[in-house]
Amino acid sequence: AAGGSDELAELGRGVNEMSRRLGELDEMKRLFIASVSHELRSPLEAIDSHARGMSAQLQGLDDATRARLESIHKNASRLGHFVSSLLEMSKIERGQLDYAPKPSEIEPLVRDLVLFLAPRAAEASLTLAAEVEPGIPVFAFDSDLITQVLTNLVSNAIKFTPAGGRVTVSVKREGPGKVVCSVEDTGVGIPAAALDKIFAPFMRVPNSMRATGTGLGLAISKKIVETHGGRIAVESSAGHGSRFYFELPLKPVAA
Ligand code: ADP
Repeated sequence: AAGGSDELAELGRGVNEMSRRLGELDEMKRLFIASVSHELRSPLEAIDSHARGMSAQLQGLDDATRARLESIHKNASRLGHFVSSLLEMSKIERGQLDYAPKPSEIEPLVRDLVLFLAPRAAEASLTLAAEVEPGIPVFAFDSDLITQVLTNLVSNAIKFTPAGGRVTVSVKREGPGKVVCSVEDTGVGIPAAALDKIFAPFMRVPNSMRATGTGLGLAISKKIVETHGGRIAVESSAGHGSRFYFELPLKPVAA
């Protein structure tokens, strides 16, 4: 019997040791991603800004050269976005998201965002509109982070909606304690089987729009909303459109 419990103890130590090592590996992976993305960011920004600067400054560039500079700029900027998302995801995983909630107003935030994205919507021949319920009180949230979530949702809606469609951002109060922001589109939609996986990192569903992206936007948005004590969800019907919405707890603050 003594031998048996020795073996169990040995096995227990083995399992503990293994889980300690797995934890270390995980931490190494996170640090690796964080430092690599950090190191990649500055040179990418330099490449991007030089390419833009050159095409703006050089007079008499022939079309082929201009197109090449444009391609350098586009690719560097796409890679830059990817690296920033990776860095942000790794910050989130290490519990280092910069979260600073302050009494803020949601309405101007939504209006600014719609103004900012209007050119992109127009370029894609889409109607972009905002419907904000009047009288939503000031409440505590991190406006940079919530802007980031809404930017991600509206950019997605624009990317995944064919010309002629409509994207609507709406904000409503629900009961005494919640604000619900939603982004609805008339786009390609998401197949039912993919709906519950869509918020996982790197998850992308092939569809007819062939848009570029990283698959990190929704994962980051989910973490941001959850950090606020809220939740994010989606309803969608393939071929008809999607509605992404998130709830934030409304804790009014004294004016
Ligand atoms: P990205 O847009 O960079 O691919 P996201 O995490 O923001 O990454 O989105 C993940 C995937 O979810 C997208 O690749 C797309 O397949 C799907 N998706 C997101 N928003 C929409 C939408 N409004 N309509 C259809 N599909 C969407």
